[in-house]
Amino acid sequence: MPTNPRKPGDGWAGRNLALAVTQTVSHHPTCCNVCGQPFAEGTDYRIWTARYELELEVDRAEASKLQIEHRRHEYLSATCGCGYKTQAMPGHCVDESGWGVALTEWHLCGPRLVSFLVCLALSLRVSRHKIQGFLRDWLGIDLSTGTINQCIHEAGRAVAPVVDGQLISELKAGDLLHIDETPWKEVGQLFWLWVFVSAQRVVYQVGKRHRLVVQQLLGDVFNGFLMTDGFSVYRIFPQRLRCWAHSVRKARALHQCLDIQGQTFGEALLLV
Ligand SMILES: [Zn+2]
Repeated sequence: MPTNPRKPGDGWAGRNLALAVTQTVSHHPTCCNVCGQPFAEGTDYRIWTARYELELEVDRAEASKLQIEHRRHEYLSATCGCGYKTQAMPGHCVDESGWGVALTEWHLCGPRLVSFLVCLALSLRVSRHKIQGFLRDWLGIDLSTGTINQCIHEAGRAVAPVVDGQLISELKAGDLLHIDETPWKEVGQLFWLWVFVSAQRVVYQVGKRHRLVVQQLLGDVFNGFLMTDGFSVYRIFPQRLRCWAHSVRKARALHQCLDIQGQTFGEALLLV
């Protein structure tokens, strides 16, 4: 592996120069950007830029195995009869407020490799540093922890419309929805991690400890039942069930308190 001249974690996304290119993909402009005339067969295309991509491939032909493809994407240009030179460009999304990462094909990691990083980081809870070592030892690629972190955040932006639309509408369609929240620190700031769990879907939301978080996700009307603790923000919904685990915890606390009446009531609750 080549030596990364910068510090690990500084966001440098240098490619793995020792890795041979396994595939070359050409991107042609289809028509003139000015007059719209399609480029005919035999057009004189010229390479004007190229990018490299690491992508995870799953070979299922015989025995399943993971392998890394190192692709060179070549972008070509062509000159129209009107005299305008049109260049094929890597795709990208426009900037959106609230996001510090861009969605663009000018990126070292391909979509399947990014999904793999997300799985390691979020489903398996592997640290960025350990992911870096895993990729180096098992797949022979060298990514900085900054690049790995950036991939995970970009994936978050890419799937945001799915979370906002499909997942939340399916969550709201459930008959019973469990909600809870717990402290969550991000960049030294205290937020709250909310979890909304139905029989089929789980949605996590980081935000303030305020009823607006629940309202913005569920709207003003929820036709099913909520199963929650006694936090007052849930009282905006009339159909509520009190979480049994929270009630048992409170009953145990009462049973252990110094007040005799409280002890008796707590004990009675625990026997229910
Ligand atoms: Zn033209």
